Amino acid sequence: MTTTASIELTLKDISATGANDDMCTTELLDAPWDVDERPGYGPGSSMADPIPASAPRQGDIPDEFKQASPEELDARIRAAKATLGDRVVMLGHHYQRVEVVEHADYIGDSFMLARAAQNHPEAEAIVFCGVHFMAETADLLSKPEQSVILPNLAAGCSMADMASIDQVEDCWEQLAEIFGTGPDADGRVPVVPVTYMNSSAAIKGFCGRNGGIVCTSSNAEVVLEWAFERGQRVLFFPDQHLGRNTAVNMGISLDEMPLWNPARPLGNNDEQTLTDARVILWQGFCSVHKRFTPAQIDKARADHPDVRVIVHPECPRETVEAADESGSTAYITKAIAEATEPTTFAIGTEINLVQRLAAEHPQHEIFCLDPVICPCSTMYRIHPGYIAWVLESLIDGQVVNQISVDAEVADPARVSLERMLAAKPRI
Ligand code: SF4
Repeated sequence: MTTTASIELTLKDISATGANDDMCTTELLDAPWDVDERPGYGPGSSMADPIPASAPRQGDIPDEFKQASPEELDARIRAAKATLGDRVVMLGHHYQRVEVVEHADYIGDSFMLARAAQNHPEAEAIVFCGVHFMAETADLLSKPEQSVILPNLAAGCSMADMASIDQVEDCWEQLAEIFGTGPDADGRVPVVPVTYMNSSAAIKGFCGRNGGIVCTSSNAEVVLEWAFERGQRVLFFPDQHLGRNTAVNMGISLDEMPLWNPARPLGNNDEQTLTDARVILWQGFCSVHKRFTPAQIDKARADHPDVRVIVHPECPRETVEAADESGSTAYITKAIAEATEPTTFAIGTEINLVQRLAAEHPQHEIFCLDPVICPCSTMYRIHPGYIAWVLESLIDGQVVNQISVDAEVADPARVSLERMLAAKPRI
């Protein structure tokens, strides 16, 4: 086990010294099954975000998995994987705790992992150690006879949940009342919907049904170019920051990017503002990435004059502007791997990935811009206890916590994903 990169051990060390201000909440030390019973997303960066009533809640898992030691769970997971062999593929998102990703057959971002699932049609089960929308995407891209399993059903994503299908349909109707639906003289429709991969299958299906497309943080610019070839303006959801950062990089003015508040008529805009818009930004955000600030970058530069600052494009605009570079997790990982000289990196993304990169590249000094340990609370819901439970259940012939997207949603959702692939993303 790569103990130096374990957030669990870091938190326990902090707690032992009494320096609890170094973590965003001491609730991070609680067992996930205790957290699952509480309303809200739980301890960590998403804890204050409102959780929709429709979000799945995890049922009980047997006590033997709750009570097992870390060493026992590690041994049980290894034994179960050895017994299952090719029958199961285990996928671990970059933001998962080290005690989870060390068992993964593939580690990556959500789309890379969904493609990895697609490349294993022989596996009867795909255990996706990530969050709900990722397991849905894996289900969309895998074979119908394969089961996609999310070890803890309470592992949602607060950003994805900020755009519900009802809110998006309501927004679409309001925009249609203003603009109609017919194309202009150049054949461009009034609005093209673009959803970030971090959205529910229902939202991806909405895009598929309405001439829209999916993007990732790696290919957002290519996808927006695709959308502007077909439409006069874009409705971008759920992450305002990725939409804004991408559009600014494409030369679009901030004045042409109104924010859509789903709780207000016309998203809290007037008709002229929406008419003049190039990109209508949904008022969503990632609670993890909004924590990164220009002040943190100033401090990193004061402490380390040669520091190279790289932040994720889910960070606010002012943070991206203050950084040296911004890019997806794939970009960040590649930039560090390709640095030939020992370098100091300050990274603005989720702490589990940053600590793992630091452990994997001891020739560099790599630290998280945010001095407070605050992992993504929803990713943090995946615990080795749940993994041991779902794997041993598979051995017993039981599929627990299966994620299955209904055909009426899945078919148009695949259309929006296929459009993205055809748009030749620069991944
Ligand atoms: S890091 Fe942000 S976008 Fe990713 S799963 Fe967590 S809340 Fe969602």
